[in-house]
Amino acid sequence: MKYPKQVKRYCPHCKKHSTQKVSEVKGKERGSLKHGSIRRAQKRGRGMGFGNKGKWGSKPAISKFKMTGAKTSKKTNLKFTCDICKKANIQGHGFRTKKLVFEQ
Ligand SMILES: [Zn+2]
Repeated sequence: MKYPKQVKRYCPHCKKHSTQKVSEVKGKERGSLKHGSIRRAQKRGRGMGFGNKGKWGSKPAISKFKMTGAKTSKKTNLKFTCDICKKANIQGHGFRTKKLVFEQ
């Protein structure tokens, strides 16, 4: 969906309405050797031996399709930066959309 680049909304820092720039917050991919990753557990020796290892095996216990489900859209995570105090505040609740395009 289309979303305006600038919106006029309430700024909790200035305690009044102001024009705010809109940008999307995108999460970063977690590293494969970070704490709690399966690859790290395998290096520790988990998933050794024979038989079905489930989560720790070479084949995934749950297919990627089942993990993501049948949903084709993702929730948005918008950041609003105030023009006056330059402070950013995050959108309270995201909405589902396939593609987000910022327009004037
Ligand atoms: Zn402000």
